[in-house]
Amino acid sequence: MLIENSLWNQTMIIIGEIAVLLAIFLVGMALFLLVVALLSIRNGRLYFPRIMKSWFFLLEGLVKAICRFFGLDDRDLISFSIRLQNSMNKKAFETVPVEKRAVFLPQCLRSARCPANLTPEGIACKGCGLCTTTDALGELRRMGYRVFIVPGSSFIKRMVQKYHPGGIIGVGCTLEVKEGLTLCDQLGIPGMGVVTLKDGCVETLVNWNEVFEVAALGLPPGSIPTHPHPPAREPAAGNPLPSAPAQPEPSPK
Ligand code: SF4
Repeated sequence: MLIENSLWNQTMIIIGEIAVLLAIFLVGMALFLLVVALLSIRNGRLYFPRIMKSWFFLLEGLVKAICRFFGLDDRDLISFSIRLQNSMNKKAFETVPVEKRAVFLPQCLRSARCPANLTPEGIACKGCGLCTTTDALGELRRMGYRVFIVPGSSFIKRMVQKYHPGGIIGVGCTLEVKEGLTLCDQLGIPGMGVVTLKDGCVETLVNWNEVFEVAALGLPPGSIPTHPHPPAREPAAGNPLPSAPAQPEPSPK
């Protein structure tokens, strides 16, 4: 009995030591990842991509917790994780034929006076020219993309179930893109995110050149539009525009 107790105690001590060592290793690793991520964000370069790719997503929660503990804003870290996910998905995305790819644009890129109607396939741009979405939409479709203007969060899942895209480009604010990329990961679809230049619910901005850079991945040069695209236009100062009428998302079919 005495021997059994001592064996039990020794086993518990070893387990305890292993747990402490593991915790120290994970916190140390999270601190290392945080430092590398901050350096990458500051210098605009991805350092140690292999280590970052394999460890960052494993310890993302812990890295964010450390950020919050030190009072650091974790939004930059979310942007960094989007860049990391883009670089991880790039190769797989490039191999997807363009007709199997889809682009999801946020409705907030539209003008506040947008006359477009809501349809079961998203918001149907009327090409009124009040925003630059219409030009980009046309060019992406000419390249072979299926393009949607997203009226609400459940819409993307519905279109994925309907069309089964092999690759997705998601445009949106940081949190939307992060959520979209997580959804793509869960569905096993290579997703590429482009974050808007300005957050908000109406008349946001995106760098269309960035969207087209991603859209051109893996495509022959002839299929890519060559002229530069300006960011979506901002409303004139001192000329506040009326808000777009609220449009409910249609119920799933
Ligand atoms: S161009 Fe812009 S504002 Fe005009 S209908 Fe299309 S999305 Fe709406």
